[in-house]
Amino acid sequence: MPACRQALHDLRSDIMKVFVHKIGLEGMKLEQTLPADAIGLSGADDVRLIAPIDIKTEVFKGEDEMIAKVAAVSRYESFCGRCLETVKRDWSTAFTLAFDIDGTTDFIEIDEDIRQELILNLPFRILCREDCRGLCVECGANLNDERCACAVRAAKPEKAKI
Ligand SMILES: [Zn+2]
Ligand SMILES: [Zn+2]
Repeated sequence: MPACRQALHDLRSDIMKVFVHKIGLEGMKLEQTLPADAIGLSGADDVRLIAPIDIKTEVFKGEDEMIAKVAAVSRYESFCGRCLETVKRDWSTAFTLAFDIDGTTDFIEIDEDIRQELILNLPFRILCREDCRGLCVECGANLNDERCACAVRAAKPEKAKI
């Protein structure tokens, strides 16, 4: 069994199982590192993680709910929405999850909720830089690198067409 499969298996068993009675007044800290592919993005997704995901979770217990404050750090690879250049960036996200509990709650499995929230928090509409000029719609030239002849033509008023 490859290492990543093993980790995925562990994630799905009991690593992120939080035993409610073990949470003290000051809360409880959990740390784990998952392989980049553990959140299960499909190959069709525009963004993929390319570094292990460091997840720090702090859980607190209330009367009828358990709060999990999650902070995750990784790195992603995607492409610019305008010029299609590959973009690789460090990535971090933080969110809070709430789980209903009552006197009979033994443990809560938080891994699936964390996984879904991580996916929801992935960046979208990524640009290589804020002022990316994109590709020429006429000839496909990357306008960050070159000024094609089409740009000159497009700049001229085309009142005749209207
Ligand atoms: Zn770009
Ligand atoms: Zn062009």
